[in-house]
Amino acid sequence: MAEHKGKCIVVGGGPVGTLTAVFLGRRGFHVDLYEARSDIRSAENVSGRSINLALSVRGLSALKHGGIEERIRSIGIPMHSRYIHTDKGSYTIPYGKKGQYLLSTDRLELNRQLLSVAEKSENVNLYFEHKLVNCDTRIPSATFQKAGSEITKTGDVLIGCDGAYSAVRRQMLKGRMDFSQFYIEHGYKELCIPPTADGEYAMPPNHLHIWPRHEYMLIALPNLDKSFTCTLFMPFSKYEKIVTGNDVIDFFNVNFNDVVPLIGDSLLRTSFFELPPLPLVTVKCSPFHHGKTALLLGDAAHAVVPFYGQGLNAGLEDALIFDGLVDKFGCDFEQIVPKFSEVRVKAAHAIADLSLYNYMEMRSHVATPWFLLRKKVDGFLNFLFPSSFIPRYSMVTFTRIPYDQALKRAKVQDKIVDNGIIIAGGLMLTAIAFAAYKTDWKSFDLSNLTLDRVIEKAKHLW
Ligand code: FAD
Repeated sequence: MAEHKGKCIVVGGGPVGTLTAVFLGRRGFHVDLYEARSDIRSAENVSGRSINLALSVRGLSALKHGGIEERIRSIGIPMHSRYIHTDKGSYTIPYGKKGQYLLSTDRLELNRQLLSVAEKSENVNLYFEHKLVNCDTRIPSATFQKAGSEITKTGDVLIGCDGAYSAVRRQMLKGRMDFSQFYIEHGYKELCIPPTADGEYAMPPNHLHIWPRHEYMLIALPNLDKSFTCTLFMPFSKYEKIVTGNDVIDFFNVNFNDVVPLIGDSLLRTSFFELPPLPLVTVKCSPFHHGKTALLLGDAAHAVVPFYGQGLNAGLEDALIFDGLVDKFGCDFEQIVPKFSEVRVKAAHAIADLSLYNYMEMRSHVATPWFLLRKKVDGFLNFLFPSSFIPRYSMVTFTRIPYDQALKRAKVQDKIVDNGIIIAGGLMLTAIAFAAYKTDWKSFDLSNLTLDRVIEKAKHLW
């Protein structure tokens, strides 16, 4: 039998737990991965959360390290821009520079691929239908329920990757751990825009479609089978008022009338009631570890609202950072485990705040002229100073700058841009007033006034 560096118990066979198991197995640890559900590769009906999600640089970098980035890219659909649907028409806003995009990825397929990679590792054992019911993070030991009986396992380190409602975290809270959770008033519900009668996408596929309606928001991400998965975000109090099929159609006709023919009247009436709306929680805790024996990664450590599309990206980046620490400190968990909290807690809290910020931006700001102007100015400044001025969205989505540093830099940049726009606006008004004063005021024609003409006129007068 191969000599192992140590024994790791990983709880949760979601994407973060499975990638972590792959990394540890590759470094010569013996890994037992326990998942409460059955194996999604053989399960017929899998009820999960959202069907697809947007991957970006952080998540893709971690998958690259795990050797499956190319496979995931080949089954993902690039989304280059936001496609905004307003009452008055539609327009696109690019996500970043040319060649930068989000990847619409099938959540289950991603998980299946990761489980298959983990299974191939001779150091990783997968245990499905094993639900963690108790653990002692000091030993560490973990007790799982399997078909009515209980099994207790011990190891050198216990890694909780068991999601936003983590059972491992629940135990760790009995020690010295700060914790807060926060539900927004909106819940989400998933709907489907099927392919058209001739089997095509019902809308342009290489975009993330957004219907911002201030209090509500609908988004749609493309799937490989030419359908779109739509997610409706709406306050629970509003969901409660929609109780019949006619209520659904009336609501959509008033707020998203272009979507009714895309989903289809009868599908919309029925699918709306298939599942109740689900809550969106933000979880912050600190630290993420206990001694040298227990650690949280992914949603178990930091669940965030999905408006920046960063929840899984951040979780996969956790696995990558953790693997970097294992690379640096070998099998010395006394160093690795606390170090992880040290480098990751601030970043995790920052992405929680950024995600809540984007909740407003997506449902309201994207539809305003100010947002469009800001995007143009941000893009221009990034063109002039590519390494020192990177727009907030790009820092979060297309770089691996730690989230807390991205947040700090964005606050400074925001001040510069906002003040710059106000000063430029003031100067422009002054130039207009001066030009009007120097010419004959009454004959001054504002109707065909352009910025270039104002500048020309002002230059001439000076
Ligand atoms: P999970 O995916 O929750 O996996 C946890 C696993 O642990 C599960 O398999 C569960 O069965 C298992 N488990 C739980 N309890 C136990 C137990 N007691 N014993 C054993 N096993 C257990 N993120 C993005 O990056 N981009 C997006 O576009 C995006 N869109 C989203 C849209 C919505 C509507 C939502 C709700 C989230 C979205 N996210 C997105 C966030 C993303 O889904 C999560 O961040 C991600 O799934 C976290 O992965 P995880 O492995 O940490 O946890």
